[in-house]
Amino acid sequence: MRFLCERLVDAIIGRQENHGGLGELRLGPEVKKVRVGRGKVSGVTLKDGVNIDSAAVISNTDYKTTFMNLIDPDSISEEWYRAVVNAKQTRSNLQVCLGVEANRVDLSSFKEGDRMIYRRNQGDSPEEIDWSEEEIHPETLAGQELEVSLLSRNDRMLGPEGTEVIVIRTEAEHFHFSRFRPTGRKRDPGYQDYKMRLGRALIQEAENLIPGLEESILVMDVATPLTFEEQGGRSGGAVAGWSWNYEDHPDYGARELIRTPIQGLYMAGYQAFSALFMGGIPTAMESAKRAARAVLQGDGPVEKIMIPVTR
Ligand SMILES: Cc1cc2nc3c(=O)[nH]c(=O)nc-3n(C[C@H](O)[C@H](O)[C@H](O)COP(=O)(O)OP(=O)(O)OC[C@H]3O[C@@H](n4cnc5c(N)ncnc54)[C@H](O)[C@@H]3O)c2cc1C
Repeated sequence: MRFLCERLVDAIIGRQENHGGLGELRLGPEVKKVRVGRGKVSGVTLKDGVNIDSAAVISNTDYKTTFMNLIDPDSISEEWYRAVVNAKQTRSNLQVCLGVEANRVDLSSFKEGDRMIYRRNQGDSPEEIDWSEEEIHPETLAGQELEVSLLSRNDRMLGPEGTEVIVIRTEAEHFHFSRFRPTGRKRDPGYQDYKMRLGRALIQEAENLIPGLEESILVMDVATPLTFEEQGGRSGGAVAGWSWNYEDHPDYGARELIRTPIQGLYMAGYQAFSALFMGGIPTAMESAKRAARAVLQGDGPVEKIMIPVTR
């Protein structure tokens, strides 16, 4: 992924230089506000207070972040605001990232693929998790469907020679973890220990596929839905855009959601379509192309609410 991003940035810089250095690329600065006046976008304000004026803004953050945090809610109708607030998203993940010593672990399960979907006792349904409980039992979490990937197979830049990167993921509910966050990005005591217990249970389960895994670990990191929300900028830590449940999204067609009710404000990214019709990253890339085209064509605002609304 890093390789892909670096190549894309190089390509954009190359194109800019070929066209006389028009434009400026700033990587990293956080946008604090998208400024809107009289139904039209007028630019953005960065976290350090710098204003950038523009008649067009493409927001790559998700809908909830854009409309609930970055713009003044008075800039859109109450109906639009409520639709965005109430729209359901997919669940989040608990994720264990491991840097392992290659010669201490048996990776033969990855002979035919670099990603496996695994569940203990495949014939039986997994024990249901009650996410409203104070804590869930690590063993129960480990009995859910796990996605186990050998990430370093396709990206040798992830670790030094003789090491591999293995990622284990399973679905997790954001609200279960949010009680560990009293304010801002702080965590209650107990969070670290709890997430490590959950993470270790996933590792023990994955040992069935990857003998020697526990003994080979050099580095371990456990991410919860709070991590995906804060570090990834994903509202609710959602990993795959709008909810995929039938009741939240009964038509299953992929509607384009690039135009917004604000003149000059366009959306790009995995929520700029009502469904991930090509998978997360390709859908986001297609939306970026279409958003750029919409800016060049000066496409106007939309009135109709097209985002998936739960019936
Ligand atoms: C655990 C996990 C596993 C996944 N697995 C897959 C997979 O196997 N295949 C697949 O196709 N997709 C997968 N996805 C989904 C994929 O990551 C997304 O579909 C894709 O990243 C969406 O791209 P995006 O540009 O919409 O959003 P993002 O990649 O989230 O990019 C949004 C960017 O905006 C930045 N940002 C947020 N707020 C601000 C702000 N205020 N100012 C400035 N910048 C801001 C964020 O930091 C981020 O860099 C996975 C996602 C997760 C979390």
